[in-house]
Amino acid sequence: MKVMKMMKKATALFLTVGMIISLAACGSSASSQPAESTDKTADAQAADAGTTTSAAASTAAETSAAIDKIVFGTNAEFPPFEFISSTGGAIGEFDGIDMAIAKQIGEDLGAEVSINNMEFDSLLIALQNGQIDAVIAGMTITDERKESVDFTMPYYNATQVMIIKEGTEIQKAADMEGKNIAVIQGYTGETCVKDLGFDYVSFKKGPDAIMDLINGKSDVVVIDSATAQKYVNDNAGQNLVIVEDNEKFASEEYGIAVKKGNTALLNALNAEIEKMTADGTIANLADQYAVAAEE
Ligand code: GLN
Repeated sequence: MKVMKMMKKATALFLTVGMIISLAACGSSASSQPAESTDKTADAQAADAGTTTSAAASTAAETSAAIDKIVFGTNAEFPPFEFISSTGGAIGEFDGIDMAIAKQIGEDLGAEVSINNMEFDSLLIALQNGQIDAVIAGMTITDERKESVDFTMPYYNATQVMIIKEGTEIQKAADMEGKNIAVIQGYTGETCVKDLGFDYVSFKKGPDAIMDLINGKSDVVVIDSATAQKYVNDNAGQNLVIVEDNEKFASEEYGIAVKKGNTALLNALNAEIEKMTADGTIANLADQYAVAAEE
């Protein structure tokens, strides 16, 4: 079993180095990849945390005393995970699934939690610089990102989807060829489209890409599933629809990132994610914010 895993890892490394670095985010052999990468990530994190659930929990209990403050970095332009609420959110003006998770982590650990809102592209650099302690931003765990930061175990599964105007002839990813494709800069959706070999325009923010689609300049926007649903709901009357291609767009997993080697925080966050997954907190938040998004 262990040998098998090592072999898989070795194969993955070989592919990464030999082929395309971002393969894991959006591989062409997508359909067979997600289960393996899920196992690997969960196993690896469980091993880090002490192999068993109870060991992970006690590690967190031991270290939690030392964690009295967590500065989370995010990009609050990714509903339903993080957005600014004029009427007040989970943490100050910041609301969404991730923000509610961050708030709960703070309460459970007895740590003061604050949010540093910045560009998505700057998050990992800010983490490495020590400007923030952790990134919670609907961020997909990728091999490329794992080279510079450490990720917790996954807390949410997503996939890339295509948003089109009803009637546009796109039924699968390959149909995007020759169309005007919009992505958001630095998102895994950009990597996916790049890997498919298509030209695209990248926008700084999701709503800008959606506006370009509504205005008829772009034919398709490639973005994460839950966020796509939110944008479609928010623009009812514009005839936007979501098209999926599970063969070309691999399943993605969101994780919280910490600075490489910050195992005290990593273990505490892993124990929290494990708890919030087991007791249904995260699933409930996902439901709650998805419902809110439909209003
Ligand atoms: N999941 C995508 C990524 O990691 C988009 C995340 C985001 O925009 N917050 O690139």
